[in-house]
Amino acid sequence: MREGRTVRLYEENVMQRSCQAVVMNCVELKQGFGVELDQTVFYPEGGGQLSDTGKLSYGDKTIRIGHVREKDGHIFHEIDEPVAAGTAVKLEIDWQMRFDHMQQHCGEHLLSYGFWKLCQADNVGFHMTEEMVTIDLSHEVNAEEIRQVETLANAQIQENRPIKTAWMEAGQAARCATRKFNDKLTGLVRVVSIEGSDACTCCGTHPPMTGMVGLVKIFKAEKHKDGTRIYFLCGRLAMEKIQKVWQELTEAVQQLSLKDEEIKLGVERLQGEIKDLQDKLSQAEERWLQAVMPQLLEKAVRKDGLKIIEAHYADVSPGAARKLAQCLAADPQAKVTIFCQAQGRLHYVVAQGTSVPGSCRARIAELNKEWNGRGGGKDNLAQGSAAME
Ligand SMILES: [Zn+2]
Repeated sequence: MREGRTVRLYEENVMQRSCQAVVMNCVELKQGFGVELDQTVFYPEGGGQLSDTGKLSYGDKTIRIGHVREKDGHIFHEIDEPVAAGTAVKLEIDWQMRFDHMQQHCGEHLLSYGFWKLCQADNVGFHMTEEMVTIDLSHEVNAEEIRQVETLANAQIQENRPIKTAWMEAGQAARCATRKFNDKLTGLVRVVSIEGSDACTCCGTHPPMTGMVGLVKIFKAEKHKDGTRIYFLCGRLAMEKIQKVWQELTEAVQQLSLKDEEIKLGVERLQGEIKDLQDKLSQAEERWLQAVMPQLLEKAVRKDGLKIIEAHYADVSPGAARKLAQCLAADPQAKVTIFCQAQGRLHYVVAQGTSVPGSCRARIAELNKEWNGRGGGKDNLAQGSAAME
């Protein structure tokens, strides 16, 4: 450890939640203050892992540490008020959040190892948010490979393998590392090794045994650049997500009176029923169209050689209204306006035959103005809609 630099207690004992420390320096930041301490249990944001949060206290004062940042080898604990250099303080991290981070980070190592071992895919990007963790792989992997890697990672968790960290020369670290090694690294580097599994350089916090990760669950995979982006969670966060999703699933299968594993069947059945209903609806609309068209043409107001048709329907879909307008406009002299209502909006369609002067676009613009609506179209057909009071 370099002179005047903070001793990083989390590197030697990740399970330590609190410590005594002395303020070495307190600087003013753009917002609030940054405190440097002689030692700390707080992990500063870096290497894809989020910062610890927690509190600093002395005397009867307790100050929240909202974020910890590392800059040029200095660790700044960000707080709202200054603390004088030389003050002896007590530090305590929000343990549940740190433990969540440790579970996610270790799960990332286990999955990265699995994708490297089983699919020869490198982890080329790691990102952690409070909602989800992602790994970007160097090439695409398929659903079966993902399942196998997930199974391997969980088996290594159940075997409760020891995880060790060691400082060593970069050359030696390169020989220890199982997967990709950054050749640019020199001097002493920190290597994190899971027995019989992953070994790589890493500055993050990991539990001492894989069993503490509890669970790794991959929730989603999608194409990203030339590879695949894997979305996953570990431990408590994975459990919470599964509980939520399982609750949704349970309610859905109960509504469908099915078993859990029949949900796909149930959705397919519903889709089939919707398709049938849609077919029946279009048949009914077609029959309605054929019945109503001659009546409208007959009632058309004849003026200046045109047949002006306007109709209002409260219970006709915008699609059927559009089709009716189009069919009526097959008559070269027809100038058609159809209104209907759907989902709380007034819809209007205008269409016209080939002998009618002017444009439907101009007519729809007038209707939009009148009803404070929006829409547009072509010379012979246009449509719009407006919110109803
Ligand atoms: Zn790591």
